[in-house]
Amino acid sequence: MAIRELVYDGNKLLLEKSEEITKVDDEIVQLSKDMLETMYKYDGLGLAAVQVGVLKRMIVYDCSYIEENSKKKPMVMINPKIVWTSKNKVLVEEGCLSFPDVFENIERYEKVKVEYIGIDGKKRIKSAKEMEAIVIQHETDHLDGIVFLSRVDEKNRKRGKKK
Ligand code: ZN
Repeated sequence: MAIRELVYDGNKLLLEKSEEITKVDDEIVQLSKDMLETMYKYDGLGLAAVQVGVLKRMIVYDCSYIEENSKKKPMVMINPKIVWTSKNKVLVEEGCLSFPDVFENIERYEKVKVEYIGIDGKKRIKSAKEMEAIVIQHETDHLDGIVFLSRVDEKNRKRGKKK
């Protein structure tokens, strides 16, 4: 496994749409391991492949390990697609490894259902709520070239507009 270099704010890759993964091969498995190692190293909750410079539709996350005494529960989702959202939305402060030290209040769906392919190549569906649902929305946004700051509603903005 290897730590990969992160892509930061200002890099145009972050605004590009990532491509579907057609085959879960060794390269994809290796990428998922590297992404998880990189995420843990930088204390992130989630990471999209574009954030390590790879325009492929894969996200990793772990909402467990930040809690004290919690074990790691790494999740890998290939070609994730949100297929259902709750009516209810929640406002939660978000950050992003590609935007160090920037935190904003973002409105997200409280619950989602996501279809994805697991690292074993099998198709799955998952219901997620609260933090996990928010992380999934944040990371799948990355795959469409959407960064969290573009989701900030002026009424919820924490800080002055940055040019
Ligand atoms: Zn992010």
